[in-house]
Amino acid sequence: MNKLTPNQRNLLNFSGGPGALPESVLSQVQQSIHAVPGVGLSILGISHRSKWFTEIVLDTEERIKRLLSLPNDYHVLFLQGGATQQFSTISAAFNNNPGHPAEYLDTGYWSAKSIEGALPTLGFNSAYSHKLRVVWSGKDQKYTQLPRNDELVLDPQASYFHYISNETVEGLQFKELMGLPQVPRICDMSSDFLSAPIQAHKYALIYAHAQKNLGPAGVTVVVIKDSLMKRMPKEFPAFLDYRVHAKAHSNFNTPPVFAIFVVNLITKWLEEEIGGLVNMQKINQQKACTLYEQIDQSQGFFKSSVNLSNRSLMNISFNLQSPELEARFLELASKEGFSGLSGHRSIGGIRASLYNGVTLEATQKLGRFMEQFKNAT
Ligand SMILES: *Cc1c(COP(=O)(O)O)cnc(C)c1O
Repeated sequence: MNKLTPNQRNLLNFSGGPGALPESVLSQVQQSIHAVPGVGLSILGISHRSKWFTEIVLDTEERIKRLLSLPNDYHVLFLQGGATQQFSTISAAFNNNPGHPAEYLDTGYWSAKSIEGALPTLGFNSAYSHKLRVVWSGKDQKYTQLPRNDELVLDPQASYFHYISNETVEGLQFKELMGLPQVPRICDMSSDFLSAPIQAHKYALIYAHAQKNLGPAGVTVVVIKDSLMKRMPKEFPAFLDYRVHAKAHSNFNTPPVFAIFVVNLITKWLEEEIGGLVNMQKINQQKACTLYEQIDQSQGFFKSSVNLSNRSLMNISFNLQSPELEARFLELASKEGFSGLSGHRSIGGIRASLYNGVTLEATQKLGRFMEQFKNAT
C-alpha cells in the first residue's frame, strides 16, 4: 500500500463523495493553486469581481447548457448550501398551488432527506399530507426497487413533482423520465448529473451539488426554467432567491470561486477530452457492467439486493455473506490501494461509486480484485 504514489491512490478511489476527479483536472488544479496560467495569481486569491472570474462563470454556464442541449429559457446557477439547502428552498419557493401540494417519491435515503428538508418550510405541520404528498414509498421494501411511472397516481395540478434520479446510498437509478408533462418536474441529480445525456428541457429544475460528479464540495449547480422561477413568492430572502442569483450570474455575494473553477475544468474535460455525454455514458455503462458481472457470476458470494432493472450505473452497493467477510474484503482492498469502498453509514456493506472521474481501468482492476478475493475465500 505504501508503495503506491498519490496518483495511483487517486486512481483507485471509489468514494461515495466527495468523489474522485480525473487526473488531468487534478494536475490543472495543482498548477492553479500556485498560479492560474495567464493570470499569474493563485486561484485561492483571485477576486470574484475580476473580469477573469466573471468569464469563468459565463463559460461554465455555456458549457453546461451545451452538454445538456438546454433551450434559451433556462438559467444555470452556482449556489452554496449543498443539495440539502435545495430540499428546503424548493419547497419554500414552489409549494404554492393551494389545494394541490407538491408530490414526492420516497425511493431511498436521500429522498427521505429531501422530504424531511421540505417539511419545516410548510410550518412544521405534522399532519402534512395536505401540503406535501408522498405518492410512492419504497421504505417497506428497504429501498430495493423503484416505481414505474405508469403505476403512479399523480395530481395533474400538483405544485411540483420531486424525485431523485439516482439513490446514491442504495444504488438505485431511474431509467425513465418520471412525473406528468404538465407538472413542473424537479429532480435532485447530485450523484448522476452529467454522467449521461438527459432530456433536460423536460425538467423545470435540476440541482446537483458538485462533490460527486463535478468537482469539490462547496458549490451546487441549479438548472432552472424561467417559467418556474417566475412562480416564486414576491418576498423571499435574497440569498435563497433564484431570481437574484440568475440576475447576478451567481455573483450576488462571494461565490465559492475555487469550486466553480474546478467545475469549469470538469465541463471542459467532458467536452474536450471525453467528447460529450454520449461518450461519458458509454464509459460509465462499461464500468458498471464490469462490477455487476462479478456480482452476477459469483453464485451468491457477492449479493446485490437491488431490483435488476433499477440498478445504478453510478453506485454499486452489495454485500458479502457476513459483516466479518465484508470487513476482511475492505481490509484487503485497502492493502491493494483501493479506497472509499465501505457502504454508507446508514446501511453498511460495500459500495463502489463509479463517478465520471473513475476510469474503466481502475474499475477493471477492482473487478479482478473481487474475483481473486472470492477465489481465495
Ligand atoms: C450526497 C447527496 C446529497 C447530500 O448533499 P449535500 O451537498 O451534502 O447537502 C443529496 N442528494 C443526493 C442524491 C446525494 O447523493
